[in-house]
Amino acid sequence: MAPEIRGVLFDVDDTLVDTRGAFRHALASVAVDYLGDVDHDALLRVWREDVNGWYRAHTRGEISHREQRHRRANDLHALFGGPFLDAEAYDAWDGAFERHFQDGWAAHPDAAPALDALDAAGLPYGGLSNAAHDYQVMKLAACGLSRMPMLVGVDELGVGKPDPRVFALACERLGIPPEQVAYVGDEFDVDPLGAVQAGLGLGVWIERPGAHSRDADGLCGEGEPRDGLVRVASLADLPAVLGL
Ligand SMILES: [Mg+2]
Repeated sequence: MAPEIRGVLFDVDDTLVDTRGAFRHALASVAVDYLGDVDHDALLRVWREDVNGWYRAHTRGEISHREQRHRRANDLHALFGGPFLDAEAYDAWDGAFERHFQDGWAAHPDAAPALDALDAAGLPYGGLSNAAHDYQVMKLAACGLSRMPMLVGVDELGVGKPDPRVFALACERLGIPPEQVAYVGDEFDVDPLGAVQAGLGLGVWIERPGAHSRDADGLCGEGEPRDGLVRVASLADLPAVLGL
C-alpha cells in the first residue's frame, strides 16, 4: 500500500499526452522536405534520445528552448544527410515542424479516465512539466484535458525536473505537503526518482509498452511501491497504486 497520498502531480509529455506520436508526425513531415526517404522510426529514436543532452541543458537553464531545438535539428540532419540549418533556415524548418507537431497532439486514452478516478476520490492534481507553462496549457486544452491545472513549467524558476525546487513549488501550489503527494511521469530519473529524491511520498514510473526506457529494472516495485517507487504500464493502474 502506498503511503497516505492526498494529491497527485503529473508530468505532461508522454504521460498524459502522446507527445512521442506527435513528434513522429512532425519528424516524418519535415523529413519529406529535408531528408528524403529515411526510416521514420530511426528519426524518432534519435530525436528522443537527444544524445548530446540539449533538452536537459535547457531544463538546467543553460540554453533557450529555441537553441536546444535548433541544435537537435542540426544533429538530426548531420546523421540523416540533411543540410546544415543556419538561423534563418532553422526558422523555416521549425515553422513546419511546430505546425505538424501541434497537429499531432492527442491525449493518451487512459489519461481522462485516470483524472476521473482522482476526481471521484476527491484528490487534487496538477501538472509539473519541463516545458513552458503557457505552452503546456495550450497543449492540454488541445488534448481535451483543460481541467488539468498546469501548476509549474520550466520557465517558472528557469530550471526543471529533477531540480527539487520545482517539485517543492508544485506541492506548495497543490497545497499538500510533499510527503503526501505522488508524482507520475515517464522518464525514470527526471520524474519518479527525482520526485522521491525531492521528498515526495511516491514516485510512479509510467513505462508504456513500446516506449524507450532506461534500464531501471529492480529500482522500483511492480504494482506495489518499493523504496517509494512503483512502475505501471498504464494510467489505468494508478487508482490501485494509490489505494483508491
Ligand atoms: Mg514526459
